[in-house]
Amino acid sequence: MNTEFSMIPPAKPIIGQEERDAVDRVLASGMVAQGPEVEAFEQEFSGALAGGREVVAVNSGTSGQHLGMLALGLSSGDEVIVPSFTFAATANTVAVSGGTPVFVDVDPETFTLDPAMIDAAVTERTVGIQPVHLYGHPAAMDEIMAIAAKHDLWVFEDAAQAHGATWQGSQVGTFGQAGMFSLYPTKNMTSGEGGMVSCGTAETARQVRLLRNQGMEKQYANEVAGYNNRMTDIHAAIGRVQLGKLAGWTETRRENAAFFDAHLRGVVTPVVRDGAQHVYHQYTIRIEGASAQERDAFATALREEHRVGCGVYYPTPVHRLETFRTEVDLPVTEQLAREVLSLPVHPSITDQDRERIVAAVNTVAKAGA
Ligand SMILES: *Cc1c(COP(=O)(O)O)cnc(C)c1O
Repeated sequence: MNTEFSMIPPAKPIIGQEERDAVDRVLASGMVAQGPEVEAFEQEFSGALAGGREVVAVNSGTSGQHLGMLALGLSSGDEVIVPSFTFAATANTVAVSGGTPVFVDVDPETFTLDPAMIDAAVTERTVGIQPVHLYGHPAAMDEIMAIAAKHDLWVFEDAAQAHGATWQGSQVGTFGQAGMFSLYPTKNMTSGEGGMVSCGTAETARQVRLLRNQGMEKQYANEVAGYNNRMTDIHAAIGRVQLGKLAGWTETRRENAAFFDAHLRGVVTPVVRDGAQHVYHQYTIRIEGASAQERDAFATALREEHRVGCGVYYPTPVHRLETFRTEVDLPVTEQLAREVLSLPVHPSITDQDRERIVAAVNTVAKAGA
């Protein structure tokens, strides 16, 4: 193992003095549960990232997905079309609401739901489609919205990894009837833990607010059986500071990605579709034709010989996890699960790190060719 260099981490939350000061301010106020900071965070987030739509803050992205789909009416026996090439939360949230995730294949270039595959998966029990803007590349929302309209389905956007990404000039999370942004520490911005639900109508927003807080809008006037999925003012205070820094961080992610695009050799670099603004939550390359073992060996060489951290998102397609084990043929998903490898693209990497990452990948790719 090479110990000459320090390891470049695959992801790194950036928490500065401003975040600490904001938390201190909330702690000193003595009011730490959901309150004015959460409300301000919702207003600011709506303006910056949700095209002015009403957004509702919750305690995680997963909660946001769960409550958002319940608000759209998801119930027992309903089917929701989802990609399998995603984080398990996408399907978990359908399942815990009593629904059945129906897995379809993705586009091999953008890693997002393949609109051409959706029609064949629609049955009389289908109620919605949940595209994922994976790695920060927007899904083909114009085509997906048209298919949904044709079959009278709702669309819930999983924008967990795509804060600020746009498709044909509009921000992700503003196309579907609802959408979710995650604020987990490794995402493009964080509140510690947290999520935001973007809502297409005032009624959807009201339902999410009710479900977030025991079914109450007015205290002790419980209208529905709800949860406690509230965000605290401590988390909102962190999120507000991070929101102010997001645009600069995204710019740095995009510059890092452009550098990799220009200099990597022997691997397949990410495709950006016309009309898409990619925010590079991950910079994901493909080791074309690799088996999972060969890709894993590539990753091990990067880490151990070159001290370049990297990650595989996700090694097991969701339809093959023990929880969902489904007999369905998803050849593109299977191929991507064998070939993908994500490199550090986060705003903390230095110019020197970028050079090291490029040299490392090109060396390992050449040795394997
Ligand atoms: C992170 C993530 C989630 C869940 O968000 P949490 O805030 O961790 O609950 C859902 N979907 C995708 C694609 C994610 O990356």
